[in-house]
Amino acid sequence: HLSARDGYAPLNSDFDNFYIRRLQLRINDCFRRPITGVPGRFITLLDRKSDDFNLSFKMTGTTTETLNMSSYNYLGFAQSEGECADAVEVATKKYGVSFASPRGDAGTSELHVEVENLVAKFVGKESATIFSMGFGTNATTFPALVGKGCLIISDELNHSSIRFGARLSGAVIEMFKHNNVNDLERVLRERISQGQPRTHRPWKKILVAVEGLYSMEGTMCNLPEIVALKKKYKFNLFVDEAHSIGALGMQGRGICDYFGIDPAEVDILMGTFTKSFGANGGYVAGDKALIDKLRVTNAGTLFGEAPSPPVLVQISSALRLIIGEIAPGQGQERLERLAFNSRYLRLGLKRLGFIIYGHDDSPIIPLLLYNPAKIPAFSHEMLKRKIAVVVVGYPATPLISSRARFCVSAAHTKDDLDRLLAACDQTGDILQLKFSSGIAGGR
Ligand code: PMP
Repeated sequence: HLSARDGYAPLNSDFDNFYIRRLQLRINDCFRRPITGVPGRFITLLDRKSDDFNLSFKMTGTTTETLNMSSYNYLGFAQSEGECADAVEVATKKYGVSFASPRGDAGTSELHVEVENLVAKFVGKESATIFSMGFGTNATTFPALVGKGCLIISDELNHSSIRFGARLSGAVIEMFKHNNVNDLERVLRERISQGQPRTHRPWKKILVAVEGLYSMEGTMCNLPEIVALKKKYKFNLFVDEAHSIGALGMQGRGICDYFGIDPAEVDILMGTFTKSFGANGGYVAGDKALIDKLRVTNAGTLFGEAPSPPVLVQISSALRLIIGEIAPGQGQERLERLAFNSRYLRLGLKRLGFIIYGHDDSPIIPLLLYNPAKIPAFSHEMLKRKIAVVVVGYPATPLISSRARFCVSAAHTKDDLDRLLAACDQTGDILQLKFSSGIAGGR
């Protein structure tokens, strides 16, 4: 065997870093959590013993059906029945499961064109192009948009896929404090003029990247103020709507819809199909000229597998439901239920005295546990009450900002949320999580 003395470094040699070890433990704990069935309103967990801690165990045994507060199933489309599932079944028979080629090699199917047109119309842009992976959409789009000599200004809490794509692009990256428009302006001022008159722009292009709704904080980007800054400093604006598309706005059309802002103010509206649409993949929408260029410059489109036919049908069916082309009224009902549920749960938790992060209309609701020791205890108490929640701690959050995160869905009923509130009430007492005696305040 080769050893370090021979100058040999095995591929996993840097996995020993303390932080990476911790991260692996945390993720792997969930990664190895056996689930069966559909991650919809309920999720079925396999009851397992602690020694079932490897991936070779059999997915059999007794199960517990838990209320699912952990999936990004905002509009309740992650399910195996209903209009979407029926259409997907038909499409699978008609088109098969795989497109078996990048579009640049094999051509484009009617399903791809249909979804791209639907998405562009839905988000209010001239054109859109789609990808088979949401993460890959960002990872490959940033390098196609900007490169050496360009500047990316990124919210410090932007998703890993944005950071990944930004680094890959070779552009200079600056960060600004999360959701802090003043700090964004500080960076713009410092980096654009750099002591020169503002007409002298040392950058080929400047791209500001934000998210519509942040998945760990439940915060919404302050789009009106960012758009005002855009007019002043003339940068390009990229908004990742992974969590806001389908989930925010009267018509579910995302952050522009929510704030009543013309989508033309944003250069690139990016989003994923994995949350509100219960499908897979991502999109990038913008002006026709820009999207046409991306189709031939984005490595993900050029060299990556095209989205799969059944997935495309799931997306188009969900979109048609939202806009009321299929089952008129049902889409609107889902949007209204999601909006009601989000506010109902948030207010209920605040009334119980918990500290909650994020915007009042956010369907992502982080409940602060603070102490990392309370992470497994909270999860355990919830599972005892047959509720599955996501718990997050360091290094994904600052050390003392551990939290549980609830993802509200239109599939949840008021009774479900009352059950969750009762469980939080009891668990909050057991773990001493309540910071006030029920003022409707919080952060
Ligand atoms: N952008 C954001 C903001 C996300 O939260 C995520 C995933 N949660 C992605 C992109 C990647 O999308 P996907 O999971 O569909 O690959």
